Amino acid sequence: MDITLLRTFSSTRRIKTGTWSRLQPVFFQGVSPCMDACPASIDVPHLYGLFLDGQEREAALSLLAYNPFPSITGRVCPHFCQEKCNRGELDEPVGIRAVERYLGDMILREGIFPPKETFHGPPVAVVGSGPAGMAAAWYLALDGMDVVLFEGEEVAGGMLAWGIPQFRLDREVVRANLRRLEEVGVTIVTSSPVGPADLGELKKEFKGVIVATGLTKARTLPVEGAHLAFKGLDLLKTYSLKGELPPGSDAVVVGGGNVAIDVARVLARDGRRVTLVCVEPSDEMPAIPEELEAALQEGVVVRTSTGLREIRGDASGKKGVLVGPVRIVGEEGGLKEVEFLDETREEIPCDLVVLAVGQEAQESWEGHGLDPAGDLVLGPSTVVQAMASGRDAALTLKARLKGEGYRGVRETLWQRDHREIITFEDLNPFYFEEIPPQEVRDGESALREARRCFSCGYCNTCGNCWIFCPDVSIILESKPQLDRDHCKGCGICATECPRGVIYMKEKEW
Ligand code: SF4
Ligand code: SF4
Ligand code: SF4
Repeated sequence: MDITLLRTFSSTRRIKTGTWSRLQPVFFQGVSPCMDACPASIDVPHLYGLFLDGQEREAALSLLAYNPFPSITGRVCPHFCQEKCNRGELDEPVGIRAVERYLGDMILREGIFPPKETFHGPPVAVVGSGPAGMAAAWYLALDGMDVVLFEGEEVAGGMLAWGIPQFRLDREVVRANLRRLEEVGVTIVTSSPVGPADLGELKKEFKGVIVATGLTKARTLPVEGAHLAFKGLDLLKTYSLKGELPPGSDAVVVGGGNVAIDVARVLARDGRRVTLVCVEPSDEMPAIPEELEAALQEGVVVRTSTGLREIRGDASGKKGVLVGPVRIVGEEGGLKEVEFLDETREEIPCDLVVLAVGQEAQESWEGHGLDPAGDLVLGPSTVVQAMASGRDAALTLKARLKGEGYRGVRETLWQRDHREIITFEDLNPFYFEEIPPQEVRDGESALREARRCFSCGYCNTCGNCWIFCPDVSIILESKPQLDRDHCKGCGICATECPRGVIYMKEKEW
């Protein structure tokens, strides 16, 4: 039945029944849990609304407002957003990262760029071209600054170029994003290491300096024989830049983080037998769970809650690590403090030992009055966390150079009426049926997956409130609006809103 036939537009128009009510609905755009969980604060429901509406370019621009390199995060981000997605309460979380990868690749393919400000800002320098430095340079250049990005290595990209293995992040994707940086006006200078001693000169030439040199010095452990081990970061760098791996068919990798897993996977894929030893129990390992799962599937043996006591080696190259059961009792300077549970000294024979037990900065930048970004301020983090930090440093510097106040990215970017996180209980699940997750391969499947999104807290003009209002008091234009003269405050619209956007509130007389 056509629902509009049930409506009458005659008499109630003249009688202002709205004055009778005590309550009235208010429309609030709230914060979705995915947006809250994403370190870059990507406004997933807003951009999905545009994408589903056929406005692919606008969706891409919305994504770029928060995250300059979605083709990279769409491949390597641990998808913090999906862990919190309300859809997970019904069936499976929305495949946000996969849709992001599709849109990110579309941005590369179609050369989509946000508009660039015409403000001709002063020259600024960014030191370090990893994810934080790249993001800082991108936002500064878009704001009209004259940006020079310094990189000490021969290739730009930092960890993206040599820390994350190629099988996780295609180097061509990194290069394509570096080319985009140049297209927005960033000058990338490689083979130019910049240290604290160079700052005096740099400050004469540049009005602002963002330092995003990361944590690129591999740590070691205070155990006997530590000098016999390779360092995880160094191994990844040599492998990525030169294609070389140290010899040894039986490897022991020490560490439970992402570098350790990457090293273990690189070695396992090269045909080595790999045992990974870490002090954390499996549910506390800092590594990305799906990378750990991939390592297990590739044959890596993982020994958790196990501590390294000693590394032994002889002239023939044979080695062995002595290990024992441990529990973690604290953390000092980024290194876990452990206690051995007994006197066990089990030997794992091997001919290659790799330590991947954390990183630190090559040099201290403290006391130089700079804008630091990325791992220098965050500690070891993920690509998206580093990017968000670089973006925030850039927006802060830009505001300072323009003499503006900076309220923080959430205040600046979140176009939301209220800050409450929309939970599954705030939604009306009656309108959502179970739909299995779609494998995102192309535009069609990306749309199908995006369609699974509930659009939590974000009105996508579905029109439910308009359909159900018995008093024809919802005016449906670009967004629904209330006809206060005739709304009787029955609350049906708030009950029927699928997305938790409408709340009933006492009227202020
Ligand atoms: S960057 Fe990561 S956390 Fe943020 S929306 Fe994308 S996949 Fe999710
Ligand atoms: S259903 Fe959509 S808006 Fe809600 S948390 Fe999931 S992705 Fe975000
Ligand atoms: S359904 Fe209509 S009458 Fe009832 S509260 Fe909503 S707008 Fe007012």
